[in-house]
Amino acid sequence: MTHYPLYINGTMVFTSRRQEVCNPASQETIAEVSVAGDKETEQAIACARASFDGGEWSNRSPALRSETLLKIASGILEKAQELARLETLNTGKPIKETTFMDIPSSAKTFEHFAGCLQRYLAAETVAIGEEATGRLIREPRGVVAIIVPWNYPLLIASWKLAAALAAGNTVVIKPSSLTPLTALALASIIDGAGVPAGTVNILNGSGASVGEMLTRDPRIDMVSFTGSTEVGRRIIAGSASHVKKLVMELGGKSASLVFADCDREAAVNGSLCSIFLNQGQMCTAMSRILVEERIYQPFVEEFVKKAKKITLGDGLSYETQMGPLISKEQRSRLIDAVGKAVKEGARVLCGGGIPKDEALRRGFFFEPTLLGEVREETNICKDEVFGPVACISPFAAENEAIKRANRCDFALAACIWTKDAVRADRVAASLDAGTVWVNTYGMFYPQLPYGGFKQSGFGKELGREGFLEYTRLKNVVSSREEKPLVSYWYGF
Ligand code: NAD
Repeated sequence: MTHYPLYINGTMVFTSRRQEVCNPASQETIAEVSVAGDKETEQAIACARASFDGGEWSNRSPALRSETLLKIASGILEKAQELARLETLNTGKPIKETTFMDIPSSAKTFEHFAGCLQRYLAAETVAIGEEATGRLIREPRGVVAIIVPWNYPLLIASWKLAAALAAGNTVVIKPSSLTPLTALALASIIDGAGVPAGTVNILNGSGASVGEMLTRDPRIDMVSFTGSTEVGRRIIAGSASHVKKLVMELGGKSASLVFADCDREAAVNGSLCSIFLNQGQMCTAMSRILVEERIYQPFVEEFVKKAKKITLGDGLSYETQMGPLISKEQRSRLIDAVGKAVKEGARVLCGGGIPKDEALRRGFFFEPTLLGEVREETNICKDEVFGPVACISPFAAENEAIKRANRCDFALAACIWTKDAVRADRVAASLDAGTVWVNTYGMFYPQLPYGGFKQSGFGKELGREGFLEYTRLKNVVSSREEKPLVSYWYGF
């Protein structure tokens, strides 16, 4: 069985503490992984700090840094098939998703930041009057801790790593201990691309030990976190004593607004994707579907008919449209949430439990589920369930739909389905969401900043704004006068 070591100071580190990683579709062990303890975490932080302070990466010319990032992108693409297979084995998600989305998009992120880092880092001169010149200089933040979840292990790590490296930082990455394989597989790609030792360190370990140490250590300047709002709150509290820079990409409970004038086939198919892709384990999952009452009944019928046709199975098969959930615990949480919703009056329109198919017995599968007659004050409508479960309800008027969509603690994303472009603009402007998709879902572009509001977090990933999170802005004011006022203020 393959053993995945940690990566510290440019070296593969095998520890005596080991962990097995399983395929959630079969519960078979697929790999063994070294687990970082306090000693390895301390080493990784110390190396990242020393590497940043030594300046070997941050002082590399932007052109050379770009070249290195392009080599990482090529390294990912060269191993694309292997990485897609590994991601599917570890997460259970269909190979079609890892092959066409997760892995190529990871490479694209490195290519994107390689292409624009020089432009983003260029110093600006600001006109401030005759007596002085003002310059704005972008510098790296220092040592960045990158803490990522299990739903898009390589992709989310790449969003953060590419921007952090492009800006000149050194990093310590901690993937989820449920899905550490592709992040650890990056080590040899990073090594092969000529990134100096200590610039990138990759640790596998639990949030409670490695995650907490990274968050609280004074040598870490910034924490870029994607995960649950609950853990996000702990990180905000833990990092407060050293006033670290934070980027927080947290949970969601996003709403999709389907208007009667939509292209119904596209809206039904898009809504299926928006809740069932990646088994619904997406921060941007549209788990609240609001449909204009004139088309509510036919929309529900078409949605249910198609949801029942989704093929569940082993992610490695190209026939599979939906894999298992990530773990038994995650599935138990879903079973409890749906059970509670039903007790509180919700009606199961399709799915609702563990599939009966004997072939799926060993995996953590859960049926694509749609709930109707849900009351807005109940937990199923308010809390993120992070699985293939959507609540659907009718609305009478545009204003009502907007108000209901916005009545939520989260504000990550939203969808609008309509053929009326004026309405789409008006509704998009009124929605409380960091990303609004109109007549589509889930389109992420490295050029576009992404991130939520309210309890979905703060800060951006991707785009210019996402890149700038990894920099600090310094202004340098230089006098142009021979004798500026301060030189004789005291009359000396
Ligand atoms: P999680 O919060 O349980 O864990 C995320 C990461 O944090 C893991 O690496 C984990 O080990 C680590 N961690 C746990 N406790 C920690 C602690 N005390 N200190 C430091 N690190 C700690 O999330 P998850 O279950 O892996 O992923 C699902 C969650 O991620 C969902 O809530 C989902 O909405 C969110 N998510 C958000 C986005 C976004 O862009 N907003 C994207 C993907 C996932």
